[in-house]
Amino acid sequence: MTNKVPFLDLRIDDDKEREQLLDAVEGVFDHGQFILGPEVAELEEMIADACNKQHGLGVGSGTTALYLAIRAVGLGPQDEVIVPALSWIATANAVSLAGAQPVFADIGDDLNLDPESVRTLVGPDTKALLPVHYTGKVCKMGDLQEIAEDHNLTVIEDASQAFAARRAGRPAGSFGDIACFSMNPMKVLPATGEAGMLLTDDESLIERAEILRYNGMIERELCQEPGINGRIDTLQAAMLLKRLPRVEAVIERRREIAERYRDALSDLVGIPREKPSEEDAYYTFTIRTGKRDNLHKHLKARGIEAKIRDPYLMPQQPAYKGSSKGHYPNAEQLVDRLLCLPCHEKMDPEQTELVIHAVRSFFEEGH
Ligand SMILES: *Cc1c(COP(=O)(O)O)cnc(C)c1O
Repeated sequence: MTNKVPFLDLRIDDDKEREQLLDAVEGVFDHGQFILGPEVAELEEMIADACNKQHGLGVGSGTTALYLAIRAVGLGPQDEVIVPALSWIATANAVSLAGAQPVFADIGDDLNLDPESVRTLVGPDTKALLPVHYTGKVCKMGDLQEIAEDHNLTVIEDASQAFAARRAGRPAGSFGDIACFSMNPMKVLPATGEAGMLLTDDESLIERAEILRYNGMIERELCQEPGINGRIDTLQAAMLLKRLPRVEAVIERRREIAERYRDALSDLVGIPREKPSEEDAYYTFTIRTGKRDNLHKHLKARGIEAKIRDPYLMPQQPAYKGSSKGHYPNAEQLVDRLLCLPCHEKMDPEQTELVIHAVRSFFEEGH
């Protein structure tokens, strides 16, 4: 069965958008600065501005942003970073690769890092908190920042899924000491390939991250410490500059679909909720149900592409199993119940109703 409702549609089929992106590419072809061209600095400034931060550093991916953030903070093998048990695995990998220890905390019903769980896990070796704004909902940053202040911890936001999401009027990325974004093609602000961004107000952190971004070299002469090549392509920066003005409209459309789903499905499945202070970006619209796998199959048979985004908790992955510290009973309960419905700006109202009808029919047929 072909997909009547694809999970996402990444093709660039809007003529105006295509023309803008091709213009951006030609601009780079004309000046020839393929690495760290002027568009990179411009994008760094625009994203930093949008997130109320002083400095931006364009990098090759969200994973790279997280890795460089933890390296720039300068954590060692004994140092612990508290991460939520549920995230894309890059969150934990960045901590491990940078030489520190991830400690896995529980999530709340918002699917985000639970401040209560964090409190029970903070110990003498804890150096940082790494909240993930999962699904595009900003974490309870007030509570988390209070814990961080009490224990002198660095806060690194993994805002990969949450560009332009807000809490209490403040955008994702504006809360922590450092914020990391992914602009891979699936994210709300998408590149046409890999891209990411690191933000901070701290001048010494941005300087260190910048040195680490290119092999730890200072002025291409002296290697201060081992680094990587984690630079963003000028081409991606140039195209992202063209896409940046569209983000608000993209999120608005997703929020409309989310609202419709909420109206039509709340009686059947667990639905993402928003408090009045929250404005989610809906990177995913993630429902919960004990009949997840059968519902998934039912939707597939009707041409609706739902997705199980992260089928395992990070500490359940082979790379972490056995060696991982933490406590996350709520996450263990939830992980087998989560399913993401299609929720993207290219969906028309008819498709939204198809999804609703298919979900309703599953439960009405007595499953
Ligand atoms: C996408 C994502 C990343 C990694 O981003 P890449 O650009 O794919 O490397 C990290 N953390 C979370 C929560 C993500 O969703």
